[in-house]
Amino acid sequence: MLMDSVLDNNSKYNPIERYASLGHKVFGAPQKYIQAPHLVQYIGKYLSLLNAQHIVLVRDPLLNIFTQVRDSILQHRAAKRVDEYTFDGECSWQQVKRIVDAIHSKSHSSGTPDCLVAVGGGKTLDLGKAIANQLRISLAIVPTLASTDAPCSALSVMYTPEGDFQEYSFYPLNPTYVFVDSSIIAKAPNRFLASGIGDAMATFYEADVCFHNPKATTCQGGRPTLSAYSLAELCKNILFKHGLEALKDVKKEQLSESVDLVIEANTLLSGLGFESGGLAAAHAIHNGLTIHHATHHKMHGEKVAFGVISQLCMEGKMEEAYKVAQFFYHCYLPVTLTDLNLKESDREGLENIAKRACQQDETIHNHPFPVTPDKVYDSMLEAHRLGMKVVHQTSRD
Ligand SMILES: [Zn+2]
Repeated sequence: MLMDSVLDNNSKYNPIERYASLGHKVFGAPQKYIQAPHLVQYIGKYLSLLNAQHIVLVRDPLLNIFTQVRDSILQHRAAKRVDEYTFDGECSWQQVKRIVDAIHSKSHSSGTPDCLVAVGGGKTLDLGKAIANQLRISLAIVPTLASTDAPCSALSVMYTPEGDFQEYSFYPLNPTYVFVDSSIIAKAPNRFLASGIGDAMATFYEADVCFHNPKATTCQGGRPTLSAYSLAELCKNILFKHGLEALKDVKKEQLSESVDLVIEANTLLSGLGFESGGLAAAHAIHNGLTIHHATHHKMHGEKVAFGVISQLCMEGKMEEAYKVAQFFYHCYLPVTLTDLNLKESDREGLENIAKRACQQDETIHNHPFPVTPDKVYDSMLEAHRLGMKVVHQTSRD
C-alpha cells in the first residue's frame, strides 16, 4: 500500500514533462550552502533557524560523525527530539519505504518530524531526499565525501535492490541546507575525490550541449541559464588547474587550498551546473553502464568519466577527448573499457549498454543530432581505443 503511494507520489512530479514545453530559463539551488573545516560542530547552530521540534537523522552505517551532528543539534537546541535511522544497501524504493514506515510508526508517539538530516555518501543523501519529499519536511544534507554532485540537487538517482540504475526521481525544491565539512572530506580515500572529479568534469561538456541546442531541456524542466553554464565552465577550469594537486594532498590527508577548491567544484559548481545546465550523453552512458554487472563495483563518477570520453568521441571532438582522457588517466579514473572491467569483444554486453543509454527519456537525446545505439556503441569503442593510446603515450606517477 505505502509502496504504491511512494511510487505514485514520486512519479507525479516530472519537471521535464510538466514545464519543459514552456521553454522557461530555470535555475535551482539549495537555500544555503555552507563549506568549512570542522563545520559539523556548527550544524545545530544553523539548523536552529528552522525552529524544528523533531529532527530525524538518516545516516550511513559505520560513520561516527553522525554522533557529532546529533550532539551539535542538541547542544544548539535545534530540536527537542532526534531520531536516527541507518541506511545500508542501494538507494532503492524498498529502502525508502522501510525508513518511511519506521518513521511513521514512531511518529504515533512523538509527532511528525519537521526536518530530516541525511549524513553520508551520495546514495544516503539521495535516499534522504526521497524520504524528506515523502514526508514533505525540510532537508539538510551533510556529505561525507566529495564523490558526486548529488548534495545540492533536487533529484535522486534510484537503483534496483540489485544495483541497476532504475530512474531519476525529481522533487519540486532543492535541499534547505547543504553542510560541507571539508576536513571530513579531506580524510576520505582519494578514490572518492577522483570519482567526484570524473562526475564534475562531465558537467561542462553536457551543459555545453544543452546550452547550444535550443531543443535541449535541463533536469529542472527548463532551458539552461547563463549562470549555470558559467558555473559549469568554472568547474571544469578549477578541476584542470587544481584536480591533480588536490588528489595528491588528499592522499596525505591535507586540507590544502586545492582540496578546498576541488571540493567546492565537485559539490557546488557541478551540482548547480548539471541540474540547471543540463545533462547529455555522458550520464546516459553511465546509466547504460550500470546494467552491466561487471561495472558494479565502479563508482558513479568513474563510469561517468568514461561516458565523458565517449560523448566527446561521439561529437567528433577528438582533441578535447584526448585532453580529458589524459587528465583522467592522471587521476586514476577509467579511460578504457578494460578499466571498467569490460571487454571490447563483449559485443552483446556493450550493445545492451548502448541500447539502455538511448532509452526514449534519456538525456542523450539533448544532442542536436539523432543518437542511435549503434552510434553509442561505436563511440564507446572509439573512446576505448583513444584511452589505450593515452595509456601508452603517458607516463604516470
Ligand atoms: Zn553524476
